[in-house]
Amino acid sequence: MTNSTKHSLLAVRELGHSIDGAPVAGASGRFADVYDPARGVVAAHVALASAAEADAAVAAAKRAYPAWSQTPPPRRAAVMYAFRELLMRDAGRLSAIITSEHGKTLDDARGELQRGIEVVEFATGIPSLLKGELTEQVGRDIDSWSMRQPLGVCVGITPFNFPAMVPMWMFPVAIACGNTFVLKPSEKDPSLALELAKLLTQAGLPDGVFNVLNGDRLAVERLVSHPDVAAISFVGSTPVAESIYRSGTNAGKRVQALGGAKNHLVALPDADLDATVDALVGAGYGSAGERCMAISVAVAVGEIADPLVARLAERVRALHIGPGDAKDVEMGPLVTGEHLARVRSYVDLGVAEGAELVVDGRAYRNGVSPDGFFLGGCLFDRVTPSMRIYKEEIFGPVLCVVRVETFAEAIALCNDHEFGNGVAVFTRDGGAAREFVHAVQVGMVGVNIPIPVPMAFHSFGGWKRSIFGDHAIHGPEGVRFYTRIKTTTERWPKGKGAGSQFTMPVMK
Ligand code: NAD
Repeated sequence: MTNSTKHSLLAVRELGHSIDGAPVAGASGRFADVYDPARGVVAAHVALASAAEADAAVAAAKRAYPAWSQTPPPRRAAVMYAFRELLMRDAGRLSAIITSEHGKTLDDARGELQRGIEVVEFATGIPSLLKGELTEQVGRDIDSWSMRQPLGVCVGITPFNFPAMVPMWMFPVAIACGNTFVLKPSEKDPSLALELAKLLTQAGLPDGVFNVLNGDRLAVERLVSHPDVAAISFVGSTPVAESIYRSGTNAGKRVQALGGAKNHLVALPDADLDATVDALVGAGYGSAGERCMAISVAVAVGEIADPLVARLAERVRALHIGPGDAKDVEMGPLVTGEHLARVRSYVDLGVAEGAELVVDGRAYRNGVSPDGFFLGGCLFDRVTPSMRIYKEEIFGPVLCVVRVETFAEAIALCNDHEFGNGVAVFTRDGGAAREFVHAVQVGMVGVNIPIPVPMAFHSFGGWKRSIFGDHAIHGPEGVRFYTRIKTTTERWPKGKGAGSQFTMPVMK
């Protein structure tokens, strides 16, 4: 129920914004439902900002920028240290919030929070990360140095599937570099961002440096075209990523826009079967497949196909499915009823396209929570590259097995796909692994690792239509994205100058 009216909102919590260091109620009169996906009920209503509210958030960030950008990097790092302590202290509570709106298991929520905390840890190193470069004597008595300075007001627009980690890929680095920030989280699970805002204030971040604006397309369009916004980080689906990249760069802004994925795991005939099956089940069905680094295609090379499919089928049928806060659950519900219907329709489509549905999770109902947005694990065999279930991102617990005869065919499949986010190869052959890493046209590669998400001190980013823009996110690329370079060439004349020079200066 997007655009719900105020009179229907009495029974549940109402979530507003956080602007200038304080909670602000929504003023547009527009709201969206936030669900408890495990129970299939509306748990809150989130305000959908108007353009005027977006302007207020940007104005707060703009006011805070001069003082924050002048704050010495060690002071900015001190705020990050304090923020990290608060995140660690509240990890249990924050993970429970993630699970309550997203549906993923509590352990998985704690894991995504930890990956976000690691970016905060990286950002505490900002005094070292911002060190510049100096060359003495570029010319006689002339020195030259380069330094990096912040950009101004930065905006982050984030997806539903990692309400903690993906925003924390962005704002700790942006803020530590001296920028101020407006975060527009997903309207499907907006509570965590508001909690992060409170913790940043407790950590000593000055008002206005970090703002949370809840909303939908209308708020995003205003932020992306706002004259006072310098840079935009987007993570979400490819059509939106591409459109934000185009409109943001047209408006003269620096943009990094990370999009969708269809990650392949190539199982070579010599791969350890147990390890490969474990990897595929965890990476295909963990978080109900709602991960940009989920494995959604298993490429079975040669004779491994039959035993692989047989073992996978056993494991997928045995998945422990239930509410994310229940004990021993491996896979929770999908985020909304709408998304559940979309994923289920892809399973129908795969059957219609002629793929072999080895495990059919469509009839699954959870005994404890029958109204939750649950889907059983689904496994397709004999999927072909011309099928839509192969080409398109399903973003649910649906794994497609494609059978090929040769290693070269497997590499070609990965390279021909429009997405290039993550990929993995499972093998015992070091030479084959090396060849794969060298030849594959994908941004993040795992060798006997199914979800090769780079650590915070490296950078995260795919290739092809999984990213628009030149910078990957967080790590050294994040520092480059959130700063611009300034190079100074300096001379202090000792006596009389050389007079006017009318030619390009060259070394003498
Ligand atoms: P989404 O594209 O629907 O939404 C992402 C954000 O954009 C949200 O904040 C949403 O409010 C906003 N938005 C949605 N439609 C918009 C529009 N028409 N105009 C302007 N803004 C709009 O994505 P989602 O469903 O929340 O998340 C799932 C997608 O995100 C998947 O495609 C997944 O692969 C991708 N993802 C990618 C990465 C990555 O690193 N490449 C990481 C996580 C998720």
